Amino acid sequence: MPHTVPACPQCGLENTYPDGSNYVCPDCAFEWPQTAQAADSDAAEAGDGIVRDANGNPLADGDAVILVKDLKVKGSSSTLKKGTKIKSIRLVDGADGHNVDCKTDLGSMLLKSEFLKKA
Ligand SMILES: [Zn+2]
Repeated sequence: MPHTVPACPQCGLENTYPDGSNYVCPDCAFEWPQTAQAADSDAAEAGDGIVRDANGNPLADGDAVILVKDLKVKGSSSTLKKGTKIKSIRLVDGADGHNVDCKTDLGSMLLKSEFLKKA
């Protein structure tokens, strides 16, 4: 038997089974709620609220960063060149992982932190 079903806390026998949101012991008819296990582990993995640069260093509002990759600017033929320094970024919760708001020579835009490194 998998260990996911605990022994009955009342009589200690292990013939217990899950029933809906409870565990049930058929030996003494005791029922108790299943505890939520690892319910928030996904959330913890998905994001701890920290925006990291290409090297995994945390970024913060006001940091200066350097592009580690040429980036085409959407809707134009311009390219932000690798090595471009950008001052005073602002962290945002943008769509598609665009989590850094910044002002560049080509205007204000949203970039992905994975293409930046802390200056
Ligand atoms: Zn029992």
